[in-house]
Amino acid sequence: MERIAIVTGANRGIGLGVAGRLAKEGMLVVLTARDATKGETARRILDAEGSQVRFHALDVRDRGQADRLADWLDREFGRVDVLVNNAGILPDPRRARALDISVEVVREALETNLIGVLNVTQALAPLMKRRGSGRIVNISSELGQLAGMGVGTPAYRLSKTALSALTRMFANELAESGIKVNAMSPGWVRTDLGGPNAPRTVEQAADTVAWLATLPDDGPTGGFFKDCKPIPW
Ligand code: NAP
Repeated sequence: MERIAIVTGANRGIGLGVAGRLAKEGMLVVLTARDATKGETARRILDAEGSQVRFHALDVRDRGQADRLADWLDREFGRVDVLVNNAGILPDPRRARALDISVEVVREALETNLIGVLNVTQALAPLMKRRGSGRIVNISSELGQLAGMGVGTPAYRLSKTALSALTRMFANELAESGIKVNAMSPGWVRTDLGGPNAPRTVEQAADTVAWLATLPDDGPTGGFFKDCKPIPW
């Protein structure tokens, strides 16, 4: 049976590019999105390119929806091979600083970019553990690097720094289960989030995600990568 890959927030941007790329790698991709109309439209775009893609609704903030996705995956395929935690938001107002950011904005960023990853990974990891293999890729950001922590977008930065910590915890907890968990930075990419002036493409980001999603058994786990090379946390 083909490998089953789940991508969150895959109706546009990097998630859509990753879904198309993993389908081209021969995986059956489950494209998830919180808006069913947007998700079905995205699935049809990939379908027209000849990719094998299914759609399932998923708002990553909703643990109940993540559990229902896990039940559906178990019934349909009995397995999950790849999980790409891509869904993310950048809710900071322009020129926000940690000293004046509203805690509501910080909560909003954490709810999607951190708790969302917890919800989906907690729900789906048991399906990987049962088979003793899996690849989890968390789409993070260099804005979350402690090594180069700067000013601006404090809520987003906090959520991605926390995602780095969570990546390492998951990697440690799943190391004996044959599951590799890594984070990657796509760089600054032309999407709705990145804006039109970003120098990088969705396809460049998808290259590193595809590499991490298809790591051999002796590949790395608990790492942070950009362009298939390690970068500092
Ligand atoms: P994007 O074009 O804004 O797309 C974000 C996607 O996430 C959309 O499909 C959105 O769905 C989805 N999403 C947001 N909240 C969700 C939720 N609660 N449940 C399910 N889906 C949700 O952004 P992008 O640039 O592709 O970003 C993708 C990932 O890359 C994010 O994690 C981002 O932090 C990271 N990243 C991007 C850049 C960049 O320069 N673009 C740089 C570093 C890291 P809706 O259409 O329903 O809103």
